[in-house]
Amino acid sequence: MENETENIQPSPKAPKSKGTEEPKITLGMSELSSIIREAVKAAVETSSVESAKIIADAMKESRKPYVDPKQIANEEMMRQQMRATRQRLAENIKLSQSNCEHFQGSNEASDFVGQLSSIVKHRLDNGVVWGICTNCLREFWPTDVDYRKQMSRKSGNRPSQAGIRWFADPAAAAAVR
Ligand SMILES: [Zn+2]
Repeated sequence: MENETENIQPSPKAPKSKGTEEPKITLGMSELSSIIREAVKAAVETSSVESAKIIADAMKESRKPYVDPKQIANEEMMRQQMRATRQRLAENIKLSQSNCEHFQGSNEASDFVGQLSSIVKHRLDNGVVWGICTNCLREFWPTDVDYRKQMSRKSGNRPSQAGIRWFADPAAAAAVR
């Protein structure tokens, strides 16, 4: 046992270090120190640019307020409910508009239907008389086919009026809703 290590011989195939050595060059102390200085400077510059970017990114990330995922899910649910409600409302309005005769009391909830129109007339500042039904919220504009018929009926509502503006081209101003 004691002699085992003595039996191991160096391999004859192992390359001899002397034969593969590179040719030696001579550098002055000042040249060597300048090379080292440049190498160190390059290494420091590269790493400091990289670490500055990492720090900047981390700071940006840290400024973002934390939002609880539950809150995001909750808000999304509320948005969906709101959308559904709005859609139902819009459908109800459409339905009531298609059924409405625009008379006082032409509402499903009313027992009595009057002879007067339920349209409120309002003169806009461009001179256009615009109407809206107080039952179904349908609007009446001069471009509508039934505008004349509906707006000429006697209404239970007093017409209102905006301040009057004067336009260089009243026709063009009136064409704009
Ligand atoms: Zn109506």
